[in-house]
Amino acid sequence: MNRIYNFSAGPSMLPLSVLERAAAEMTNYNGSGMSVMEMSHRSAVYQQIIDDTERDLRTLMGIPDHYKVLFLQGGATTQFSAVPLNLMTKNGKADYIVSGQFSGKAAKEAERYGEVRVLASSKDRNFAYVPHVTQFNADADYVHICYNNTIFGTTFPYVPATGNIPLVADMSSGILSKPVNVSDYALIYAGAQKNMGPSGLTVVIIREDLIGEPQPGCPILLQYKVQAENGSMYNTPPCYAIYIAGLVYQWLLSIGGLSEMQKINEKKAGMLYDYLDNSKLFRATADKECRSLMNVCFVTGDEALDKKFCAEATAAGLSNLKGHRSVGGMRASIYNAMPVEGVEALISFMQKFEKENT
Ligand SMILES: *Cc1c(COP(=O)(O)O)cnc(C)c1O
Repeated sequence: MNRIYNFSAGPSMLPLSVLERAAAEMTNYNGSGMSVMEMSHRSAVYQQIIDDTERDLRTLMGIPDHYKVLFLQGGATTQFSAVPLNLMTKNGKADYIVSGQFSGKAAKEAERYGEVRVLASSKDRNFAYVPHVTQFNADADYVHICYNNTIFGTTFPYVPATGNIPLVADMSSGILSKPVNVSDYALIYAGAQKNMGPSGLTVVIIREDLIGEPQPGCPILLQYKVQAENGSMYNTPPCYAIYIAGLVYQWLLSIGGLSEMQKINEKKAGMLYDYLDNSKLFRATADKECRSLMNVCFVTGDEALDKKFCAEATAAGLSNLKGHRSVGGMRASIYNAMPVEGVEALISFMQKFEKENT
């Protein structure tokens, strides 16, 4: 075994058992005589894979029947366009809460399709917190949030009470980390490569009444209506990425579902934040009440020392700890697939580094 602990923000670690199962099934999936990569997406054997994958995601998240699940391509970034193109259709206006770089990009993209009102931004403190917003514009076609801010290590500690206004959430880096009440949201989207599988797959969970005529000129592949009517197969879907996501869902079900996953995630993040809060060398950068369970950002306050830390950590088998360039310092992404032992190894390493460097 020569696997490392990979703290990459995405693409990121997958459960070893998922990779081993995929390897075992690589050349001959379930007696079909071929790899999932080689199958027609129109075949019965592939239809079973996508149906099972959808069923397991519905079970895990408790997705109500009046929501559609779409398996799409183009990453979360494509949804920055698809959401306004499909939902900014009543009043041509939408409200955005900007709590990080991705929500900023989402708001900027939406401006191409209608009037965007940024209700609040946490840019004043380099996105170290999530703004608490309670007032929304009644004429907004939707309110958009980024549920977990991958780059800055913050997460929404509350669900914005938007009343009848549809709430849209980019959940790329938070989905499946703990249970959420899907009914609180009108639309959830997430790129798979953070917490669900390989890149190339984006999952969209959308309340059926929001699936209607998009803005004129909306590219056909971005139309939720077309994708929903065609079972995510208007064209070739990301077949292999869907299959791997399906294996990840089976793995989550096997460990007891999202409430079990939450316990493990709270344990991992709790250990790391506890250590950080008591460290004389390191400091967590996100405000306490909105700290992410998935992305833990920290600094020493000395850039040269941060660099030394990352280099020595990599040499010790703890990789991809360098923070995003807009925050600096370090970021440990501890998604579902990161075992408790990985976080323990990181903390031991940090303790040793702290001793040697203070
Ligand atoms: C990674 C990420 C994105 C961008 O995803 P792509 O798949 O690269 O388009 C958007 N939003 C969030 C919250 C992310 O973590």
